[in-house]
Amino acid sequence: MGSNGNSNHVKVLVLGSGPAGLSAALYAARAELAPVVLTGIQLGGQAALTYTIENYPGFPEGVGGAQLGELFQKQAEHFGAKVEFDSANEVDLSKRPFVVKTDNGEYAADTIIVTTGASPNKLQIPGEEELTGRGVSYCATCDGWFFKDKKVIIVGGGDSALEEGLFITRYASSVTVIHRREEFRASPILQKRAKEHPKMNFILNTVVTEVIGNEKVEAVRLKNAKTGEETIFETDGVFIFIGHTPNTQMFKGKLEMSGLGYITINDKMETSVPGVFAAGEAADPHFRQVVTSAGMGAAAAIQATRFLEAESG
Ligand code: NAP
Repeated sequence: MGSNGNSNHVKVLVLGSGPAGLSAALYAARAELAPVVLTGIQLGGQAALTYTIENYPGFPEGVGGAQLGELFQKQAEHFGAKVEFDSANEVDLSKRPFVVKTDNGEYAADTIIVTTGASPNKLQIPGEEELTGRGVSYCATCDGWFFKDKKVIIVGGGDSALEEGLFITRYASSVTVIHRREEFRASPILQKRAKEHPKMNFILNTVVTEVIGNEKVEAVRLKNAKTGEETIFETDGVFIFIGHTPNTQMFKGKLEMSGLGYITINDKMETSVPGVFAAGEAADPHFRQVVTSAGMGAAAAIQATRFLEAESG
């Protein structure tokens, strides 16, 4: 049971506490709807795991990801949002109020704003799961420090791969980016920075087919995507940044979604169920930025406010 005791009936329930969720909470709170935010497993969402965010407006020197999350939270709470360290695990959207079962209890909600975000993809190769936490990682900010003066590889060719790779150069003796194609998907500014960095190396047209090690990572098996040639590459760490999958399994069959699992929304953040709104990476396969997610969260809360106003006549 959440801290509201038996009467866990809320006007606005926000699922998730990343930039979308906490911005939705801020707007719903300022509309005096006393929103409750269920944080999910990571307060602040994926952004909180980013060391520095350089492209959120208003912070010309950049801002720490965790710090930005705390500021979002503080601002939402200042206007009356309640942030609960709890996770939703089952929803009934077939009637209103909607019912949401959580780790700690149950909520009845007049509206729901889904901002459950996304989780990092796995390579799904031998050794990856067994050696996760023993050299395999999906979070440079969390684990980079453990690789002081060590050799690491980064898998991927997008913004995350290069940005996180650059971050790990603070600690590691060398950072080798392994990308399956010739061209990077990452933005030109990050490509330039990465290519100019003395500690960064690149192996292109190559896939990682196995993570090798007993107690910890010792090497990876590489395969040249063009020639098929296989090699063993010694490394202490394997950081994997190959995209994300939206955390929307809970809504399968309940909300319309794309084949990839992104919740379908219209330009008012409305889902296929009236009274349920979605924002941020759970519903956005295109932009996935802190600023765009925050904007979507604000829009979802404005629309939820209008929805409740229309209902109360
Ligand atoms: P992404 O842009 O989807 O890039 C994923 C990368 O992983 C691609 O290079 C892809 O290769 C590779 N990949 C995918 N599956 C693979 C597999 N099974 N094996 C090997 N390689 C694989 O993901 P992201 O870098 O996490 O970025 C996600 C979003 O967040 C993007 O919109 C990005 O712009 C944004 N972002 C922005 C910033 C910033 O603005 N500073 C920082 C981080 C993220 P291919 O290129 O061959 O498909």
